[in-house]
Amino acid sequence: MADYDVVVVGAGNAAMAAAVSAREQGAGRVAVLEKAPRELRGGNTHYSGGLLRFAYDRAEDLLPLVPNVDEQVPGFLAGVEPYPQKRFHADLERVTEGHSDPELAEILIGRSYDTVRWMAAQGIAMEAAVSLSAVRVGNTVKWSPGAVIRARHEGVGLSAMWFQSAQERDVEIRYGTSAVRLLQDARGRVTGVGVRDGDGFGEISAKAVVLGCGGFEANPEWRARYLGRPWDHAKVRGTRYNTGDGLRMALEIGALPCGQWTGCHSTPIDAEAPPHGDRKLTDKTNRLSYPFGVLVDVGGRRFFDEGEDFWAYTYAKLGGIILNQARGVAYQIFDDKVVGLLEGRYATGKPATADSLAALVAQLPVDRARLLETLEGYNAAVAPGAFDPTVRDGLATRGLALPKSNWAQRLDTPPFTAWPVTGGITFTFGGVRVNDRAQVQSTSWTSIAGLYACGEMVGGLFHGNYPGGTGLMSGAVFGRIAGANAAGA
Ligand SMILES: Cc1cc2nc3c(=O)[nH]c(=O)nc-3n(C[C@H](O)[C@H](O)[C@H](O)COP(=O)(O)OP(=O)(O)OC[C@H]3O[C@@H](n4cnc5c(N)ncnc54)[C@H](O)[C@@H]3O)c2cc1C
Repeated sequence: MADYDVVVVGAGNAAMAAAVSAREQGAGRVAVLEKAPRELRGGNTHYSGGLLRFAYDRAEDLLPLVPNVDEQVPGFLAGVEPYPQKRFHADLERVTEGHSDPELAEILIGRSYDTVRWMAAQGIAMEAAVSLSAVRVGNTVKWSPGAVIRARHEGVGLSAMWFQSAQERDVEIRYGTSAVRLLQDARGRVTGVGVRDGDGFGEISAKAVVLGCGGFEANPEWRARYLGRPWDHAKVRGTRYNTGDGLRMALEIGALPCGQWTGCHSTPIDAEAPPHGDRKLTDKTNRLSYPFGVLVDVGGRRFFDEGEDFWAYTYAKLGGIILNQARGVAYQIFDDKVVGLLEGRYATGKPATADSLAALVAQLPVDRARLLETLEGYNAAVAPGAFDPTVRDGLATRGLALPKSNWAQRLDTPPFTAWPVTGGITFTFGGVRVNDRAQVQSTSWTSIAGLYACGEMVGGLFHGNYPGGTGLMSGAVFGRIAGANAAGA
């Protein structure tokens, strides 16, 4: 008899959804293997903002998830726009430039609302994502459509609630236990995992194995191999344990690679952020208010249309663009008019501050003459119009080779601030191919019996960019499917 019905590798959002789903669907003995020690458990999920992007037809559809939301945000529903499936599809299609796999996208989006309701039923409490999604102007609060709700207490809360839920459902968690290889019988069916823990090497048998052990973002050698320069030096925003183990194990037994192996999610973060995610700081090193300012490199030039779109649709590619500038550093410059719009997370960093642009520039280790010229040129190119941070206001520069397409206001109100940023890697996009049952496909385009994958390990959904809040949703959708099918294996 196998040691377990289902063994789940990893203990992030996707893996925990799989473990809980497997129990719900009748698997008697379910074990979660977590490579990290207990105090560092939970993968990137712990470090995340907990934001969940999902489709809903009416603002009221959010109420079952946040029944007391009016206590948190009086008049909440008034600022929430519907986010039907076709709008989610359009966002995913647009930001990935048509590269998201249609079958996987349909599963993700089509099951997103149902899955978020299921998460709530499993004990994942939620709240309005005020600090991430709400833009306040005067008495108006406008929410970023589709990305309004997050897990209560963000990723720290989400991870803790998943462990609680799993514990209540008698899922066994084995900390400090790395899966190192997949076991197979003579017919090729996966029959368990080889593991390494404090006692050395061993084997655990199972009727089915679910891989939910992340991408290769924390492995500099794989980053160099697949993403190229300068990714080997990137700061890692989350866990140090996602080193591509699950992908390696799956590929070793003939899993089909899928998606953009040269791509990753990477965001502008404080240039002084630590080399790996900090358990307490979590995602607070992010610097995502650039649409309201000007972004320059150390050569003193702009290199990105800061106002291309709302941050939720550009931030996941901008980290890589910054990392690829000279020294991998850039500066976000704001004036006092927009200080009230900067995300609260800016409070964790230290900007250069001055009462004139010339005095600000003098403090920065950049080509100062060129930077001053850039800022003066930018100010001269700002066209008249009404600034509105709640919509794409079309307030664009005129005549610049690289425009700022929205929210372009002159930098003219002291004090001015400059925030040093770099690109931090969040997770990688390359993965394995899964079908609609989350079964891992082989290079022969058949399912590998007994093997399922979910979360960051699923390739094909994201390419070059990503709409904010989709990673956790994908993990929950495919984790739930993987666990349910593994239970019946
Ligand atoms: C700072 C930050 C903020 C983010 N904010 C958001 C957000 O607000 N919304 C959103 O949707 N997404 C966000 N993301 C992305 C999101 O966190 C990930 O998409 C999601 O957590 C991935 O879930 P996962 O379960 O696939 O992987 P993870 O949560 O990373 O879990 C992987 C697990 O596998 C374990 N593991 C690795 N190798 C092995 C092995 N060999 N054996 C056993 N265990 C192993 C790890 O220890 C870990 O427990 C953020 C990420 C970061 C880093």
